[in-house]
Amino acid sequence: MTPPGSLIGLLGGGQLARMSALAGRRMGYRFRTFDPAGEAAPAAPVCERVVRAPFDDPAALEEFARGLDVVGFEFENIPPASLRIVERFCPVHPRWQALEICQHREREKNFLHGQGFPHAAFRVVTTLAELTHAVATLGAPCVLKTAESGYDGKGQLKITPGMGLAEAWEQWSGGRPRRGVVEAWVEFDAELSVICARNGHGQTVSFPVFENVHAQHILDVSIAPARFAPEVLREAVALAEAVTEALDVRGLLAVEMFLTREGKLLVNELAPRPHNSGHLTFDACVTSQFEQHIRAVCGLPLGGVDLLRPTVMVNLLGDLWRADGSAPDWTPVLAEPDAKLHVYGKAGAKPARKMGHFCVLGKAGQPVEAVLAKAREIQERLRAK
Ligand code: AMP
Repeated sequence: MTPPGSLIGLLGGGQLARMSALAGRRMGYRFRTFDPAGEAAPAAPVCERVVRAPFDDPAALEEFARGLDVVGFEFENIPPASLRIVERFCPVHPRWQALEICQHREREKNFLHGQGFPHAAFRVVTTLAELTHAVATLGAPCVLKTAESGYDGKGQLKITPGMGLAEAWEQWSGGRPRRGVVEAWVEFDAELSVICARNGHGQTVSFPVFENVHAQHILDVSIAPARFAPEVLREAVALAEAVTEALDVRGLLAVEMFLTREGKLLVNELAPRPHNSGHLTFDACVTSQFEQHIRAVCGLPLGGVDLLRPTVMVNLLGDLWRADGSAPDWTPVLAEPDAKLHVYGKAGAKPARKMGHFCVLGKAGQPVEAVLAKAREIQERLRAK
């Protein structure tokens, strides 16, 4: 167990590291982060030190790791070899093997398939001929997704019936060799996620299921409690815990799923770190996902995850920022006594960039629909400003 007072290293200094460090500092932990953006990284102001270097710089990784008690990460696209360098100096959680699977869509799908977890049908493609074969087998519509470095719909192309595949391949690959995964189109009723924590001492704790709504492939809103039948909620948690166990994660694992029109759960994506859909836990649960991240990585007993009040989280993207780079007028959020504003302190606002979020908390026992309506109203008023 790594007790409060210890120095924790976080690879990646984005908002997930910032919120993990904020939660950990409250418990007495100290933090160092590693980020190519250096002092401009959102976590830098809440860490004692930031090491600024590319994620594959061995000398910088060694400099970062020396003197740390334990290391976690918040960013998926860190080379597993970099975790292995850090591991020579101090323990890293989750282990590099889990990261290696989750950061690569082909390995992730093969893992899910090999372990017998439910997922959308898929084919791996590296050429136009393979794409043609995959579309013939899976049918259109389907989605072509990049195997590596894809997030928030980046590197994805929906293939519709009758679409010219040669042009599609050219557009997607840019004429360069590229590995992709073609997924059958899922007619889903809803999207959901379960964030599980394991502490390496036999304890696994899952947050309540979050219901997620995406807009333009990016998470827009998360809703808790999720509005699904009790057996769906139970099945989602059991599935997520089985995946977390199979990956032998010590830390957090977010498991994103589709609930199909037939009522079946399919695993879509895995993330071995805090997850955007869990941001509402900061305001709405006994223990936040960020504190749980620190507890799990440090091998502490895990905290309780009860949802205290119905809550809706809304992402704040760079689209809301003004042309001169200034932040929007936050009055619509601030004027609502049961809303919480979180701004990540990122310098450059760009369309689709996650700049912050807000949560609206309902009264205990209030239907979450009313909370959702209030959150949507605030979102509209921010957009209109
Ligand atoms: P991903 O990057 O895989 O999480 O995809 C981003 C979003 O695109 C998902 O949250 C879904 O809303 C949508 N999406 C991804 N894959 C599929 C699919 N196979 N069928 C239908 N919608 C999908």
